[in-house]
Amino acid sequence: MNDNNWNDYGLETQAIRAGHHRTHEDEHSIPIFPTSSYVFKSAEEAALRFTGQKPGNIYSRFTNPTVSAFQERLALMEKGERCLAFASGMAAIMAVGMGLLKAGDHVVCSRGVFGNTVLMFQNYFGKFGVTTDFVDLTDTAAWAAAIKPNTRFLFLETPSNPLIEIAGIAALADLAHAHGCLLIVDNCFCTPILQKPLVLGADIVIHSATKYIDGQGRCVGGAVVASDEIIEKQIYPYLRTGGATMSPFNAWVFLSGLETLAIRMKAHCDNAFELAKWLEQQPSVAKVHYPGLPSHAQHELAKRQQSHFGGIVSFELANGKDHAWQLIDATEMLSITANLGDVKTTITHPATTTHGRLTPEARAAAGIKDGLVRISVGLENIDDIKKDLLKGL
Ligand SMILES: *Cc1c(COP(=O)(O)O)cnc(C)c1O
Repeated sequence: MNDNNWNDYGLETQAIRAGHHRTHEDEHSIPIFPTSSYVFKSAEEAALRFTGQKPGNIYSRFTNPTVSAFQERLALMEKGERCLAFASGMAAIMAVGMGLLKAGDHVVCSRGVFGNTVLMFQNYFGKFGVTTDFVDLTDTAAWAAAIKPNTRFLFLETPSNPLIEIAGIAALADLAHAHGCLLIVDNCFCTPILQKPLVLGADIVIHSATKYIDGQGRCVGGAVVASDEIIEKQIYPYLRTGGATMSPFNAWVFLSGLETLAIRMKAHCDNAFELAKWLEQQPSVAKVHYPGLPSHAQHELAKRQQSHFGGIVSFELANGKDHAWQLIDATEMLSITANLGDVKTTITHPATTTHGRLTPEARAAAGIKDGLVRISVGLENIDDIKKDLLKGL
């Protein structure tokens, strides 16, 4: 089967089969097309392709068959009309801002977003006359209060990093739309396997494909999924001009990442849930942040909004930074790295790495304590992960 209407198929099937338009070579696996440009049959055809009157590839800054396959597959999986791939997750966020914002516009963003996302809005879009207010992810009243007549969009990550807090996407979508704004959700932590923000009312989904979509820590990439209209009018023209394109090789790696995403996410979630329950029983652990635990403030919301609770667990050690560092250094198998979404379990100390650039006051306001440790739970045997942590607990 080839060139099917994959809409009617299950998510696991779309992840494996959609997007591949088999060539005359009858290949079974999607080929990598390492070509920067494409050849036209005539001068007239070249002219028609440049004006868009005739579909087809022109130049790989804006279309490449391997990258297009990835885009088609991810759009289906997110139940969006169209997807555009980018060189990184940050390039995807940059493209959304460049496409949608102009001087004088305003953005409301959740406080707990990825550090570079904060810098992007504050330092770079800020330089061109866009203002951004940051609010608590879970405080719906604060979101409502922050919206101004010139607010263009609300931007959030749910679950947040590193405290794994959950925001109600449907409620915030309603709020945004009531004020003529868009809702943008960075779906990096959940992937479409666990949560589909567009189905819940969001207008744009962002991905860092670097994380779970790759899944094995090899390539950097990103994506934007939205309506045909938003992509065609606002994002694609910027990609074509701005040029932060995903390479065909990376798209090929991400395509195979998508093929195993459903089973990997399930296994990540199972291991993380097991680890969270175990951590809660350890005497030196003061608090565990995991939405699967009934002790989590948004446990019920997480149950409704996500199909599973995710692969990231954070916990607080009662004895602060010294114990956190000691625990991290006592591990022998876990990788000390801030990356996440890998089959290998990674461990990090947010207060001195990912959130180290914040002032102590800003960190305290964000609830990131010195004893906090974040684990991206991988797919090793869960008993080995526990054993490694026990060395420092
Ligand atoms: C890593 C990450 C990004 C940035 O993605 P890159 O691919 O590293 O540019 C954006 N959002 C979230 C939630 C991330 O974890």
